[in-house]
Amino acid sequence: MKLIILAAPGAGKGTQAELLSKHFNIPTISTGAILRKNISEGTELGEIAGKYINDGKLIPDDVMIKVVEERLLESDCKNGFILDGFPRTIAQAEALENSHIKIDAVLTIEVPDEKIIERLGGRLECKNCGSTYHKLYRAPKTEGVCDNCGGKLETRADDKPETVKERLATYHEQTEPLKKFYADRNMLRVAHGREEIADTTAEVIKALQQC
Ligand code: ADP
Ligand code: ZN
Repeated sequence: MKLIILAAPGAGKGTQAELLSKHFNIPTISTGAILRKNISEGTELGEIAGKYINDGKLIPDDVMIKVVEERLLESDCKNGFILDGFPRTIAQAEALENSHIKIDAVLTIEVPDEKIIERLGGRLECKNCGSTYHKLYRAPKTEGVCDNCGGKLETRADDKPETVKERLATYHEQTEPLKKFYADRNMLRVAHGREEIADTTAEVIKALQQC
């Protein structure tokens, strides 16, 4: 199963990707997580990414295409993968289409902007393993501590209100057109984000059963 998850920031993309990754036993490749790791390690890629991320802007296509193409060649991607955060522009989607990688389906999770703004306000992320939580909807067992690895939970720097607005605008302008791109290729599957994570997962699995 080679799957793309396409959704607005805060739509629950990462959460559903983690659950699907367990369900299908394939890795999630999260471009956001790769970039944040590079920023915290101070790599060359991190240096470039840092200039864009905290303004809610996208990293240039040529940089991202190279990062993802290299990552998908690693052996853990042999039997499939879930792409979370790529492609995010038509140029990225075209590059993927022109590579040897054949995607089975593109899942979109629909959530209204008002909900997204509310959700991102309470989001927490593990500094160590990248798992995400929410103060209200998906609280960790112990406050401030990751259930998976015991790492410290923090609010992401790009989750501050001004940046969230910019990220949503970027999504509508540059990423949402991908829905039509993939619908035209008969690859798009639609699910709706629900209040309960498990209800969303049930919709997602149902949407994917057609492929
Ligand atoms: P979210 O989808 O919640 O905004 P991500 O963790 O997927 O968060 O991405 C965080 C940031 O990383 C994006 O706002 C963007 O700046 C950058 N980024 C991630 N993936 C890409 C991509 N494919 N192309 C360009 N920029 C990206
Ligand atoms: Zn963790």
